[in-house]
Amino acid sequence: MQLDGKTPSGPLQNKWDKYRFETKLVNPANKRKYSIIVVGTGLAGASASASLAELGYDVQAFCIQDSPRRAHSIAAQGGINAAKNYPNDGDSIWRLFYDTVKGGDFRAREANVYRLAQVSNNIIDQCVAQGVPFAREYGGMLANRSFGGAQVSRTFYARGQTGQQLLLGAYGALSRQIGAGKVQMYTRRELVDIVIVQDKARGIIVRNLITGEMERYAADAVILATGGYGTVFYLSTNADSCNVGAAFKAYKKGALFANPCFTQIHPTCIPHTSDFQAKLTLMSESLRNDGRVWVPQDPTDNRPPNQIPEEERSYFLEEKYPSFGNLVPRDVASRNAKEQCDAGRGVGPTGYAVYLDFADAIKRDGQDVIRRKYGNLFDMYQNITDDNPYETPMMIYPASHYTMGGLWVDYELQTTIPGLFSLGESNFSDHGANRLGASALMQGLADGYFVIPYTIGPYLTTNGVSEVTADHQAFHDAARKAEEQDRKLLSINGNQTVREIHVKLGKIMVNHVGMARNAAGLKQAIEEIKSLREEFWQDVKVPGTASDYNLSLQKAGRLADFLEFAEVMALDALERDESCGCHLREEHQTEENEAKRDDDNYCHVAAWEYDGYGNTPKFHKEPLVFENVELTQRSYK
Ligand SMILES: Cc1cc2nc3c(=O)[nH]c(=O)nc-3n(C[C@H](O)[C@H](O)[C@H](O)COP(=O)(O)OP(=O)(O)OC[C@H]3O[C@@H](n4cnc5c(N)ncnc54)[C@H](O)[C@@H]3O)c2cc1C
Repeated sequence: MQLDGKTPSGPLQNKWDKYRFETKLVNPANKRKYSIIVVGTGLAGASASASLAELGYDVQAFCIQDSPRRAHSIAAQGGINAAKNYPNDGDSIWRLFYDTVKGGDFRAREANVYRLAQVSNNIIDQCVAQGVPFAREYGGMLANRSFGGAQVSRTFYARGQTGQQLLLGAYGALSRQIGAGKVQMYTRRELVDIVIVQDKARGIIVRNLITGEMERYAADAVILATGGYGTVFYLSTNADSCNVGAAFKAYKKGALFANPCFTQIHPTCIPHTSDFQAKLTLMSESLRNDGRVWVPQDPTDNRPPNQIPEEERSYFLEEKYPSFGNLVPRDVASRNAKEQCDAGRGVGPTGYAVYLDFADAIKRDGQDVIRRKYGNLFDMYQNITDDNPYETPMMIYPASHYTMGGLWVDYELQTTIPGLFSLGESNFSDHGANRLGASALMQGLADGYFVIPYTIGPYLTTNGVSEVTADHQAFHDAARKAEEQDRKLLSINGNQTVREIHVKLGKIMVNHVGMARNAAGLKQAIEEIKSLREEFWQDVKVPGTASDYNLSLQKAGRLADFLEFAEVMALDALERDESCGCHLREEHQTEENEAKRDDDNYCHVAAWEYDGYGNTPKFHKEPLVFENVELTQRSYK
């Protein structure tokens, strides 16, 4: 299969304008003839639904939660990037573009990233107009702070609740369209299949989570904005309901899955303490603006942190990376924390934690200033750990947080299935092998507010209004298949709960497909995942019935997808025999243990095509061409 990213020709700075000028527009009077399904109402889906409806399209929007406001985007804490250059510290669209490409270790498409940087400024204007309460300076100017991988302050924020405030803005815009009758909102619905008729996406099957009924919906195009798959590791900073289901169903129907092994482990999470834990909590990266990361120099030093003198501490990030210090990108910070703990210098009950210390910042700025900046994060930390971070350093350790991999999409955000688009974290498009902090919110809102409203037009004008309705046989077949899977899951009646098997999968993934990977471990993981999948289908116990609210059944369906998808992740990590960004293959490291890329052989997007249950998927490549930046060894020294 030839993968065509459909990147417009011409100079990088002009590509998006050129695309928009040359693209076929949909006449305003015709827009109301087209119907679009949007699955997901996080930042990407809510902004897309609102914008498309505002343009005049008929939208049907779906989400798992009881309200769009509860999408996982609400958890985002630290901020959203944009190249406004308000602090006058040297930022520009070009610098945001460059930092993002470099941060992703040169494994993203230049044109997509440049467009992202261009529209970043529109996002801030849009959100301010909606009333999003971004932090402001004394004089009224919007405030900025720094995030990893950048030497400028370009992150806009609303204390530690940026995602929540942005989502309320998008939800307001969405609600306006629900009120206007342009968006039909379906909550508590989970996509269980995508319906393809004559090679085009024509609709979806969803489980009504309250009644259990399989419902059928048809439209002229389908957009997936269903988030990331970090919960494949079981313990992660993601919401419990995050899943790979919708993207994986698309993959099984022919959409290619790109770079599945590119998963981000975030350095600043509250460490894992017991096997009963269902979730890990993020401490926002913004804390690294003021917090200093350290461990005791002597591995046997068990004194409380406040009793360890300065000269006996190792501020390992500041020492190793003097230019970026504590604000190195996430992959670099995570690997270094692991390295310290593996060398026995970790702290806390398990030895798998490092300190994040605010004593200097509090001495410099005073407690009130620190409270104003991070108060809710400090409270959250204290509520969970019962330690007061104003008095004693936080303890942090890396955890699964974000997935750069996702459905392969072209410049128009269209998958390899015509009429099926993917936005936000569910696609692979902009972050390469490592996402920089505060760039996911930017991408989700860029895709929804400013990209898809243009790029869906050419598909609709070329393909016209579909005559396919939800009574088409393809819908009946897909719904029946989903019901059959439910019956099968309910009938196994084995001895292990869904959670128990998910925990086992998580351990395999953390041990072999996590922060550091090697060929032997990945091969072992593939075998272990296969046998765990067999175990699941023979021994899982799913109580209850299919005709009411059954959380175990929902989770069993999601785990069934993860048990297949995890193998594709491991396979992708094995195939990519280089290190880049978050993907550290232990065989390929520089002398200083940094990721060592192999641009001659791996400067491409890896895209996998489903080839039937249990078979090895087919491998495709989209070569990455860099005409505007030089591929260098990343250095944050
Ligand atoms: C704790 C935390 C803090 C973060 N902080 C930041 C930050 O400060 N800055 C930043 O840039 N990024 C941050 N991120 C990342 C960022 O929040 C996410 O990448 C982003 O919000 C994803 O948005 P989305 O719209 O793509 O997906 P989501 O917000 O995950 O929304 C997915 C939607 O899809 C729906 N859905 C999923 N599967 C199905 C299905 N099968 N059927 C029907 N509906 C489905 C869900 O109901 C939901 O509505 C953070 C992430 C975490 C975990």
